[in-house]
Amino acid sequence: MALPLHPLIDGGLPLEKGDPNFPGGTLRCHCAGHKVEVTLGGNVLHNHACGCSKCWKPAGAVFAVIAVIPVGQVAVTANEDKLHVVDESAAIQRHACRECGVHMYGRIEKDHPFKGFDFVHVELSDDKGWQEPQFAGFVSSILEQGYDPAKMGAVRAKLRSAGLETYDVLAPALMDAIAAWTAETSQSRL
Ligand SMILES: [Zn+2]
Ligand SMILES: [Zn+2]
Repeated sequence: MALPLHPLIDGGLPLEKGDPNFPGGTLRCHCAGHKVEVTLGGNVLHNHACGCSKCWKPAGAVFAVIAVIPVGQVAVTANEDKLHVVDESAAIQRHACRECGVHMYGRIEKDHPFKGFDFVHVELSDDKGWQEPQFAGFVSSILEQGYDPAKMGAVRAKLRSAGLETYDVLAPALMDAIAAWTAETSQSRL
């Protein structure tokens, strides 16, 4: 059964590992010309497949592939005037190309456990060596977007065959980081 999830994952094989010494590279939007370019000054962290409805994904994909990188390593290097924020009320301000719709980077401006990191899609780069996806998050969320519940077992099996453990929120290390941040920033410590 063909079960397209995302072009990076659909090979059905364990994903090729990234290069720990990778120096970064350039993301480009999908426009034919005058592409928006974002240059990343290092490798990404916590790259993962995401089943939520907010992350940008290529046509036909069920999952997004999204990572974070420190804000200081992100620079818009061409055609910045084509960017706009998709939803000003969202915690993550997703800066997308107004012409092709691709999300170039997402930035958090308010207090948040991931403030200081931008969200990016390394598939927008032709450079090789980016960290490979580490896990699949928000897997059950694909059902909220109309995915067939009968296929969930096959979806999870396919993600695992690519080496991605599946979670319905984020992987434990990230959930721990969020909870620790919440404790640190709350008024009443136990
Ligand atoms: Zn574009
Ligand atoms: Zn997402």
